[in-house]
Amino acid sequence: MIIFLKENVEKGSQELERLYDFISNFPKVETRLLELQGETRTVRELHLIGNTHHIPEEVIRGMRGVEKVVRVSTKYRQIGRHDVNFVPPGFTYNGITFDQESLHIFAGPCAVDTPEYIEETFKGLKSLGIETARMGAYKPRTSPYDFQGHGARCLPWVFDLAGKYGIKVIAMEVLKESHIQEIIDALETAGHPTGVMLQIGTRNAQNFELLKAVGSQTELPVLYKRGMGLTIEESLNACEYIASEGNRNIVFCLRGIKTQMSLPHRNLADFIHIPVIHRKTRLPVCIDPSHPIGSKDHAPNGLLDIFNAAAQGVIAGANMILVETHPEPEAALCDGQQSLTLPELEKFVEDVAICREAFEKRVNNYSQGMLKEMSSKAAQG
Ligand code: PEP
Ligand code: MN
Repeated sequence: MIIFLKENVEKGSQELERLYDFISNFPKVETRLLELQGETRTVRELHLIGNTHHIPEEVIRGMRGVEKVVRVSTKYRQIGRHDVNFVPPGFTYNGITFDQESLHIFAGPCAVDTPEYIEETFKGLKSLGIETARMGAYKPRTSPYDFQGHGARCLPWVFDLAGKYGIKVIAMEVLKESHIQEIIDALETAGHPTGVMLQIGTRNAQNFELLKAVGSQTELPVLYKRGMGLTIEESLNACEYIASEGNRNIVFCLRGIKTQMSLPHRNLADFIHIPVIHRKTRLPVCIDPSHPIGSKDHAPNGLLDIFNAAAQGVIAGANMILVETHPEPEAALCDGQQSLTLPELEKFVEDVAICREAFEKRVNNYSQGMLKEMSSKAAQG
């Protein structure tokens, strides 16, 4: 059971103490007070865990300080939305707000390679007005003989260069617990010129110990990628490990699922699940069109499959895009075959803007139409 508290009900308030008193009458019920700090408001909820069937909902609903009471039917209680009318507050990290309304493009190479290429990338992003980047220092590769990433030693110069070009957040994958501290320490030593969103790759989508590790720190937000062979329910339950450890600054990423039916693409883009994640959870949704497509193939009209995949996601309300770019894709140490050049990225950004405008028009058109229909029905009595 979740008790949504009224806006002014804080820790230590009389209203909350009365609620705790009342709940203490029921054995085997644990309480957890959750605070979700959004850009414009803070949502506070009291989560009741355990044997809650005997707790009378109506009594709680009538108590002072209670906004509403919801019986939870999904296991992913903290990331779950539970009530379609609840507007999730999102979160702000390093000046960038992530929620179910916003849209950010995180572009950059699959893996960090040379300072020259990274500088050129950041410079290119800055010229396009982009403050968010992607790049891996630690790379999970299919073959042990492929480039595994530069690891912690590249972090100082990557962070310095990011700061120089006004990059606020870099999405960076971690493969094991010690990588988290290496990133936190490097940011600290560099004087926080930028920020990092810790990325959980699809191969670690059910690495529960790693999920607990990124969840038990709250300094850095987490980008959780759906498991390429997991159902939505399995991935959401795994993602809940992050929130259950205390970190609720999470973005859920769709990156395609593994099936032979995706051929000639690497994976099958699953972006139709954006609205599903939006209604089932409070999380902003990211799409990664680069990994499911896996090439620079294009339609006879010239539009790259990567553009078309991203378009599907943006037109359905995506909140973040991870896209691989490289100043010289043929020289990239990883995934060059699907990396956009910087001029292609410029076109990509324009294409995203066209799709975003169409998405906004679609939402407006539909909701206005529905409102009209509802008011004419009401008028008919
Ligand atoms: C990546 O984004 O760099 C990556 C490895 O993606 P995925 O985990 O989705 O394969
Ligand atoms: Mn890649």
